[in-house]
Amino acid sequence: MRHTNDLKQKSKSHEVKQTGTTSYTVASGHTGKQYFITVLENGASCTCDWAKYRPADNNGRCGCSHVLAVMAYIEAEKGRTISAFQTFEQADRQHRPVMDIGDGILLTTRKAT
Ligand SMILES: [Zn+2]
Repeated sequence: MRHTNDLKQKSKSHEVKQTGTTSYTVASGHTGKQYFITVLENGASCTCDWAKYRPADNNGRCGCSHVLAVMAYIEAEKGRTISAFQTFEQADRQHRPVMDIGDGILLTTRKAT
């Protein structure tokens, strides 16, 4: 079981660059390795090792820290911040729109203060 708080903490150290309408590169804050993220309708796919083992019926969507970093980047452009959850119950408690990005990760967004 992954902890979404750790995941979010980890995603903060990554460096995100937009390279196209739906394409981004993320440089890992830990290893400096580069990953390529493609934003899909709900969520995004990634080229990291974690993403390789995501089930195909998930459309390649991945709940890794790289995808979270990109989601945070996109929402930041809209003046919003994200929170990540693993159950609808937890996410629902926020009373905010919930985005299911696949791979068992749910995001809520709120206006940055
Ligand atoms: Zn990844």
